[in-house]
Amino acid sequence: MGYREEFLVKPGAKPQLGDIDPAYKGKHKSHEKAALVIAESLAQIGQWQYLLHADASQSLLIVLQGLDAAGKDGVIRHIFTGMDPQGTRVFGFKQPSAEDLAHDFLWRIHQRAPGRGEVVIFNRSHYEDVLVVRVHELVPREVWSRRYELINDFEKMLAQNGTRILKFYLHISPEEQLERFKRRLEDPARQWKISESDYAERALWGEYMQAYEEAIERTSTRLAPWFVIPANHKWFRDLAISQIVAETMSEMDLKTPPPRVDLADIRKKYHAAMRGPDQA
Ligand code: AMP
Ligand code: MG
Repeated sequence: MGYREEFLVKPGAKPQLGDIDPAYKGKHKSHEKAALVIAESLAQIGQWQYLLHADASQSLLIVLQGLDAAGKDGVIRHIFTGMDPQGTRVFGFKQPSAEDLAHDFLWRIHQRAPGRGEVVIFNRSHYEDVLVVRVHELVPREVWSRRYELINDFEKMLAQNGTRILKFYLHISPEEQLERFKRRLEDPARQWKISESDYAERALWGEYMQAYEEAIERTSTRLAPWFVIPANHKWFRDLAISQIVAETMSEMDLKTPPPRVDLADIRKKYHAAMRGPDQA
């Protein structure tokens, strides 16, 4: 069984995040042993992305969610190493602007959805509108509780329009988060990542877990599945995600598109050009 089956949240199932070990490493004992497998998946992703871009009829949307320091930035850096920057984009979603808030919650998201031929990664997403918004009661329950259905409809529309959607929840333990916060405090190269809210959000861990469990339960669908990825070990997280992305892309029926020109005609022109202007 591959990691795609192992970490998939089946439609309708409620993940019990408390029972999922964030430090899980599968059968791989160490990063060194997994490195080759990771490199292999990244190479495959690169080849599929080339075809996705060339064929330009479908697209891929990868949604990354997780608490602070769960590793969203790390996954993006990693997954994209195999891809051509042409045809890829990343968006991070922060507190909505006044203009965003003047519209429905999906407005800013929809504008950034991938066009045909593109791979787009969302660093946070429309899920914040049923996570942070719920935990902090930024809108009344009647408002956020209707959003699951709206999200499913929205994602279904994207899928029917040719977008493959993969959603990853990066599952870390509170201890690992604290360890990562400490590293940020001590390492001047990482201090810029620290934010005022980090410890306040951490205190709401239980509320966030509840919000995540319900969001994942209500929005893991056949067309837009959720995966809960054990993410205490960065290399394991990268291994699992790159494998799931590679496997999914391999099923997208991506092929080199046929030439857009009449090759026989172009060959005639080529030979004429070879003979030079005098003989033309
Ligand atoms: P970071 O990912 O560390 O750059 O932080 C971005 C912050 O923006 C996080 O604290 C998110 O919870 C917050 N954020 C993202 N989307 C929303 C939203 N729709 N409403 C409120 N806060 C949001
Ligand atoms: Mg942060």
